[in-house]
Amino acid sequence: MKEITQVLRENSMKVTPQRIAIYQMLLQTKEHPSAETIYKTLSPDHPAMSLATIYKTLDSFKSAGLVQELNVGGASSRYDAVTVAHPHLICTCCGKVMDYKNDALSNLREKLPENIGFDIAFEQLLFYGICKDCKKQVQ
Ligand code: ZN
Ligand code: MN
Repeated sequence: MKEITQVLRENSMKVTPQRIAIYQMLLQTKEHPSAETIYKTLSPDHPAMSLATIYKTLDSFKSAGLVQELNVGGASSRYDAVTVAHPHLICTCCGKVMDYKNDALSNLREKLPENIGFDIAFEQLLFYGICKDCKKQVQ
C-alpha cells in the first residue's frame, strides 16, 4: 500500500498529522465510522482537532475520491475508505454498518444498459434490517 502522505500529496492535499490520522483510521476500520466516532477515537491523541476539522477533512477526502460517504439515514453520514461501490447491511437496532461482499451487487452502474437518459454520479445499495447480535438479544 502506498504511503498515506504520498496519497494525500498526489491529491494536492496538504499533509497534516490530523489528515493522516483520519485517513489511516478509515483505511484500518471495517466499521464505517461517522465523523463523531472518528472524533471520539482520535481526540485523545489529537486533542487540538475539532469536529469541524474532521467534517472539512472528510469533505475534501470525498472530493478527491479517497472516501465515500454513506447516507444511511439518521443524523450522521458514515464514511468508507473503500471507494468502489459495494452493498452494505445496516442494523436499524444498533446502527452497525457492515459490508456485504457480493460482486454481482457491486458497481451496479456498470451493469446498467448504456442509455438510461440519466447521468449517474454515484450509487449506494443499502439493506436495512437486524444484525445477528441484536437478534440474539431480543430472543
Ligand atoms: Zn445490531
Ligand atoms: Mn463498506
